[in-house]
Amino acid sequence: LDSGSRARPWLKHYPPEIPSHLEYPEINLAAWVQQSARRHPDRAATLYFGARLSYARLFEQVRRLAGGLRALGVRPGDRVAIILPNLPQTVIAYYAVLWLGGVVVMTNPLYTPRELRHQLADAEARVVVAFDQILPRVLEVASEVGLRHVVVTSAADYLPPPLRLLYPLKQAAQRRHQRRPHPAQHPVAPSRPPGLQVHAFTRLVRSQPLDGPHPVDAREDLALLQYTGGTTGTSKGVMLTHFNLAANCTQIQAWLYKLEGRPTTVLAALPFFHVYGLTTVLNFSVMTGSTMILTPRFSAAEVVRLIERHRPRLFPGVPTMYVAITQLPDIARRDLSSVEACISGAAPLPVAVQESFERLTGGRLVEGYGLTEASPVTHANPIWGARRTGSIGLPWPDTDARIVDPATGEPLPPGSVGELAVRGPQVMKGYWQRPEETAAVLRDGWLLTGDLAQMDDDGYFRIVDRKKDLIIAGGFNIYPREVEEVLYEHPAVREAAVVGVTDPYRGETVKAYVVLKEGHAVTAAELEAFCRERLAAYKVPRLFDFRDELPKTLVGKVLRRALREEAPPVQEAA
Ligand code: AMP
Repeated sequence: LDSGSRARPWLKHYPPEIPSHLEYPEINLAAWVQQSARRHPDRAATLYFGARLSYARLFEQVRRLAGGLRALGVRPGDRVAIILPNLPQTVIAYYAVLWLGGVVVMTNPLYTPRELRHQLADAEARVVVAFDQILPRVLEVASEVGLRHVVVTSAADYLPPPLRLLYPLKQAAQRRHQRRPHPAQHPVAPSRPPGLQVHAFTRLVRSQPLDGPHPVDAREDLALLQYTGGTTGTSKGVMLTHFNLAANCTQIQAWLYKLEGRPTTVLAALPFFHVYGLTTVLNFSVMTGSTMILTPRFSAAEVVRLIERHRPRLFPGVPTMYVAITQLPDIARRDLSSVEACISGAAPLPVAVQESFERLTGGRLVEGYGLTEASPVTHANPIWGARRTGSIGLPWPDTDARIVDPATGEPLPPGSVGELAVRGPQVMKGYWQRPEETAAVLRDGWLLTGDLAQMDDDGYFRIVDRKKDLIIAGGFNIYPREVEEVLYEHPAVREAAVVGVTDPYRGETVKAYVVLKEGHAVTAAELEAFCRERLAAYKVPRLFDFRDELPKTLVGKVLRRALREEAPPVQEAA
């Protein structure tokens, strides 16, 4: 099975409309703002609580903010952190940084000072654009990480006038309701460190516009430093070039061939501070001149209201979003019929959810796969073609994928379980200032994903598990997902996560964390018996822990690591 004879069996399952090879633009990504402003000046780029930002206005604000940032001393190649939820300002700030040739560091606005400190210091970001609610945390770490400028914006800044006036009252009422102090009223409000300047976004965006876009070497110059590894270990910056991100958008467009590259309406439920939302919603929309329906925080009820009001055709998301929507009490009476195409990624998509969501919308919801290191999408099921349940689908155009032996790196034949390796124009340049970690995962252009997977004879791939989540108990390999799937079959189980915990006899033993459906009861012994009927004895969980909820990342991935860390070592084998 040498690489020469390695056919790409997946290509024959592409719908005829999707070419196996595409042309990728070598541009500064911010040129897309200019292009869409010329083609569709009056079209809304963003809709945000009734406020409409047209492409013409977006383009102007991007150039003005870029001018303001340049006046603060930001130069091409400098890293600028953006710490915002999905707001019109996020779109403006992201393209303003790219317009002047800077590198965006998208940062989660829920980060604690500890996480902020690590990320800002590692990226050597001297300028940040931050949400007002996170300002105290930014100030707390500012002098340690050498920040010079903070550009602050509030969720109210781009609200239409009546809502803007009501915003402080709404905030106060919400705080009373939650009995939480406003983060801006930090118990010990850190004072502004000397040497740090704080600027209002609303002022900076009125600066003299900067000509551009700054010319880039698209294959070499970074557009984005995207931190990842939050669920796996030390967070490191993935270096994504203008070319990487443009390539992934071009691939998405090819996959969505029925839209014929024309502007459409996209629901922006995924956060832009994760590369999944950044690529599939933000960059894709601006490339095609589409309208983004912004929602700063995911709420299923709010999303349904937005769908009914704005009728988006596309809704990329994660399984937990589709689950939450299908479980709304009045959902059968709501109108989701505008939704035509959804790609679900980041975590496995349960079949039952796929089916009920498709019944509700009449559209297609298909599973895809990706990772930050690949901008992120590498695989998806055909949206309007043959898809396979439980599979992540086919590698995208110009994307090679293979299964390799995790120990030797040698390619394995179809059907074998091994590590998934991918190669394509969307694969990162490397990890920021971490040559050893880069060398460990990038070999001859192949990215080792750390996911165990299988390819069938037709070239459809299936994720078996994360390599590092593999449990080895008494010498046997146990894939947590397989055990979780069995637990999910039990009628009382709403959610399940399985981890390996240290065991003096077996090395590791299987522990299941279970959340029950409301009004259901089941004992650990009953669940164990249920698993015993369906799994080999060594895979059956010995320990059960019933919870009200499971710890998850913002995109809905269960934090197995957090569960593993909290589990005390087992004293005696059960
Ligand atoms: P991130 O870098 O945060 O986007 O996380 C990437 C990881 O998410 C991958 O390495 C997979 O472990 C996981 N992942 C993404 N898509 C899927 C999927 N469809 N099924 C299972 N796991 C997935």
